[in-house]
Amino acid sequence: MLKVRFAPSPTGSLHLGSARAALFNFLFAKNKGGKFVLRVEDSDRQRSNKELTAEILEDLCWLGLQWDEGPYFQSERIDLYKKYAENLLNEKKAYLEGEAIIFKVHPQKIKINDLIYGEIEFDTNVIKDQVLMKSDGSPTYNFACVVDDYEMGITHIIRGDDHISNTPKQIMFYQAFGWQIPKFAHIPLIMEAGGGRLSKRYGATAVGEYRQRGYLPEALINYLALLSWAPAGNREIVSLSEMLSKFSLSRINKTKAIFNIDKLNWLNTQYIKESKTEKIARLCVSFLQKDELISDSYDFSHLEKVIDLFKGRLKYLSQISEIAAYFFLPAKIEYSEEAKQKIKKLDKRIWDELIKQWENLDDFSTENIERVCREIIAERGIKGAEIIHPLREALTNMAVGPGLFELISVLGKEKAVERLKCITL
Ligand code: GLU
Repeated sequence: MLKVRFAPSPTGSLHLGSARAALFNFLFAKNKGGKFVLRVEDSDRQRSNKELTAEILEDLCWLGLQWDEGPYFQSERIDLYKKYAENLLNEKKAYLEGEAIIFKVHPQKIKINDLIYGEIEFDTNVIKDQVLMKSDGSPTYNFACVVDDYEMGITHIIRGDDHISNTPKQIMFYQAFGWQIPKFAHIPLIMEAGGGRLSKRYGATAVGEYRQRGYLPEALINYLALLSWAPAGNREIVSLSEMLSKFSLSRINKTKAIFNIDKLNWLNTQYIKESKTEKIARLCVSFLQKDELISDSYDFSHLEKVIDLFKGRLKYLSQISEIAAYFFLPAKIEYSEEAKQKIKKLDKRIWDELIKQWENLDDFSTENIERVCREIIAERGIKGAEIIHPLREALTNMAVGPGLFELISVLGKEKAVERLKCITL
């Protein structure tokens, strides 16, 4: 039975690079009818943290990367590692140094046929004797990893290429036990545009941060997959179900993947645009509440209308508060200097005329609002821009946004009229 695993260390939040390793394991297993195991590598008690473990599991679920087996926790399996280390001790393949159990390395050449990198050869001459169990009784990463991969029947190890140098060490342990060596596939790390591994200095690196900003998991998954994998045909938008059916390790690119936030934002916008308005509105509620723009008793159908105006423009959902605040603020709003200058340019009589006409409209529809505006423009012999720009600033304190007449209709007669009435410059 084909079996893979994702083995996060809960010493930090789930990094985008780790999420991508989880994704490739998940896709590989599902595509081949295999099993996806989750193993939490928390044997280093000092550095591991229960809250982080919970957060990592939650992030994986949010991404939709549900595991079939586990989670196993290395911290609960210490006796097992000890037993295996003692076996090697008894066979004189390891020795004691104080309380620590150390593996004796013999010179040899080790070759692997990496499923992504191809053939890689290592010379164990450059590898010093390896600690199996530390003097505090905890196992080292390399040792616990091998014992677990064997015990759990892992057939393929798909992980970041930062682990390539660990591979010969792990293979030596398989040899010492006489266990079958699994297949390895090392995936290229995610890099920053200027070189170097994607790090916090560059921007958000944790899955949780993207979740909090309102990225859709489908978009993040699509982006992470396409960083170094693509189905035939160079398409950019690929759903998880399509990935599941088309995934193969052989299409993973071995050149380093470069992180590009603009690309991720573009993809997220596409996914938001294609989602049902109701779903996006629901997801936006928590952002708007956090920013105190709506209370518990908000009008959901009004919110849906607002979302319809912005769906194609949001890079991520938390932006909603910034770009659509004027729908939820009280009638009287503060204006920027730029807005004030534009508002001042329109004759006071035209503002009064607009207010009067709007008040008379029974149906405050986009069409009626536009008609009223066009009539005033024609009567006064002014240019459309002379009324449209000041009006947009007066109602939104912004120079750009959704279609003006539609926006006014969604704002509603009461608030639109009230806002024009209380302009103070
Ligand atoms: N705990 C290791 C890590 O997070 C796992 C490496 C592996 O997949 O073997 O990097």
